[in-house]
Amino acid sequence: MKTRAWFQVVIRIDERYQDLLIGLLVCIGFTGFVQEDKLLKCILPKQKWDRDFKNKFEITLAKFKIEFPSLDLSYSGLILHEENWNKKWENQTGIVEAAPNIIIKPSWKKLPKRHSKKLVLHIDPKMSFGTGHHETTRLSLSLLERFLEPQMKVLDFGTGTGVLGIACIKLGAESVFAIDIDEWAIENAKENLKRNDVQKRMIVRLGSISIIPRRNFDLIVANIDFYTISRFISSLTSRTRNQGIIVLSGILTSDLPVLLKLFAKNALVPIELITENEWTAVALRRM
Ligand code: SAH
Repeated sequence: MKTRAWFQVVIRIDERYQDLLIGLLVCIGFTGFVQEDKLLKCILPKQKWDRDFKNKFEITLAKFKIEFPSLDLSYSGLILHEENWNKKWENQTGIVEAAPNIIIKPSWKKLPKRHSKKLVLHIDPKMSFGTGHHETTRLSLSLLERFLEPQMKVLDFGTGTGVLGIACIKLGAESVFAIDIDEWAIENAKENLKRNDVQKRMIVRLGSISIIPRRNFDLIVANIDFYTISRFISSLTSRTRNQGIIVLSGILTSDLPVLLKLFAKNALVPIELITENEWTAVALRRM
């Protein structure tokens, strides 16, 4: 396995506000988070922490502070070595009841008997996003549970740990084509494919929109962010078959009105909207 040095930023922030900030920090490129009572530890590959990144990070914090002036948000940074990180992660990550019938389980936890009838996703997260601890992953899984039909051909845009694509296969999809722009996510997703024995039906590739084959998918799932959704929605629509489904998550409810207009322009009709805290996920049908 590759080794890598990480940069960790520790932010003073009350637990109630952490998920919202995590959503914004994922968008600028942080890949891992450890949540404590009054501290949020945010991790990214060490080489990504440069002057530009630090600027973006500070602007994000400053905007957050405007919304929530009472928060402290002071931070400190340090270099972290991989062994430390993985140990911490193992201590933090437990079983997640991610959707009504889906459980996410890391390999170091035993499955409690009460979950034995549920669909189990075996996910060891390493440094990628997609452990089920975040609302946006759970919302995506709930919509997949409702809209994934057997034999569908699926595109998983921004696969992270591979969690959503793996869920699709286990829910009966014929095949999943999954992409991510983060090398580390690809490596982690590939390990998780084997762990779930779905590697014959799910392909994972490094890259963005341009590497997606020009074919009509029955269902596309993307748990991404407002900007990426806005940028790629028409390309994603053109890769969805007529009457096919697009499941989008990673949407702050306050951004929804703008996106709804964009969906209408692309002849995408919302068929279900669900929310958890400040996050919304939507299932759309292509007309
Ligand atoms: N699907 C997982 C991970 C979501 S996080 C889950 O639901 O939990 C979003 C992922 O999208 C990250 O791994 C990020 O690297 C990837 N990503 C961001 N922009 C992308 C783009 N333009 N093309 C492909 N992947 C992208």
